[in-house]
Amino acid sequence: MAECQKCGEEVEELYRVKVGTRRVQMCEDCLELHKEEQAIAAEAEGAMQDMMGYKGR
Ligand SMILES: [Zn+2]
Repeated sequence: MAECQKCGEEVEELYRVKVGTRRVQMCEDCLELHKEEQAIAAEAEGAMQDMMGYKGR
């Protein structure tokens, strides 16, 4: 058994995920959440770049 570094739950299997410059071991649930967060962050970044206006004025 190992402990998820994100939610503290004890799980059978941990996934090693790179978060920023750190490596975090997290359970499957947290991994899914993390992936979603990443997707949302990437989308937000894209939207921001659109707002900055690649198309000019
Ligand atoms: Zn977890």
